[in-house]
Amino acid sequence: MHYTTAKTILSARNGMNLYRGCQHGCIYCDSRSCCYGMAHPFEDIEVKENALRLLETALQCKRQLCMIGTGSMSDPYMPLEKELGMTRQALECIEKYGFGATLHTKSDLVLRDLELLQRINSKTKAVVQMTLTTADETLCRILEPNVASTARRVAALKQLRQAGIPTVVWLCPILPFLNDTEENIRSIVGFCAEAGVKGIIHFGMGMTLREGNREYFYRQLDRHFPGMKERYIRTYSNAYELLSPAWRKLEQVFREECDRYGICRDNDKIFGWLSAFEEKTEQISLF
Ligand code: SF4
Repeated sequence: MHYTTAKTILSARNGMNLYRGCQHGCIYCDSRSCCYGMAHPFEDIEVKENALRLLETALQCKRQLCMIGTGSMSDPYMPLEKELGMTRQALECIEKYGFGATLHTKSDLVLRDLELLQRINSKTKAVVQMTLTTADETLCRILEPNVASTARRVAALKQLRQAGIPTVVWLCPILPFLNDTEENIRSIVGFCAEAGVKGIIHFGMGMTLREGNREYFYRQLDRHFPGMKERYIRTYSNAYELLSPAWRKLEQVFREECDRYGICRDNDKIFGWLSAFEEKTEQISLF
């Protein structure tokens, strides 16, 4: 871990990353890609030491209340957060100034901040977004080695719902020849139904690979699935977008299952809802 001094903290769309790099070790992580220009090893987490001061100033200067998001480039609840508590302090600041919050994580450490999320949600909206990729716990430990297992994430989603915190699931990536089965899609949508999630975001039944994450992903394939890297290269060569050969059927299953359970699967609607600031008296329906 090392510290840096940031110039700004909020993006044009009111997103923030308090940390750079991630400890969770997902083998498919796009944030490793060279295009992001990270000048330090991905596991050597960069901590923006002035992030909380910058956030407070930014929120004080905002003319209108809005949703503040975090978790797009690194997980806000990676193990380091237990020690540093920056995500928690950012949420406290968000609550203090009356903004809404949405977090994207794969960790059930988010439950530590449940009461704080409830306080934000009692005035406006606090949403937890969680990624689920596989219902197979053994595969999960390989794909996402340092993070809460799928079962623990689903348990966290249920606990969040019981506490009145709305949730959204990201079903991605779908890795060809690994988690691209009908059974997996059915199971994950079933978990989402059990946990009462508001919507499921997905970007097609596939994954992306580019310089930086491709090399890491292939090393992990060699380690855990001998021969699989060669299968990828034979099938996709150097492509950026790698659709599962079964993508049509998987899309159909996904649509049918979401519709069966009444779960929103319209990305535009879900993103629109996630970014919409709401007073508690005028909540916007997702459906
Ligand atoms: S949790 Fe997200 S940012 Fe962290 S390693 Fe996994 S995919 Fe990358």
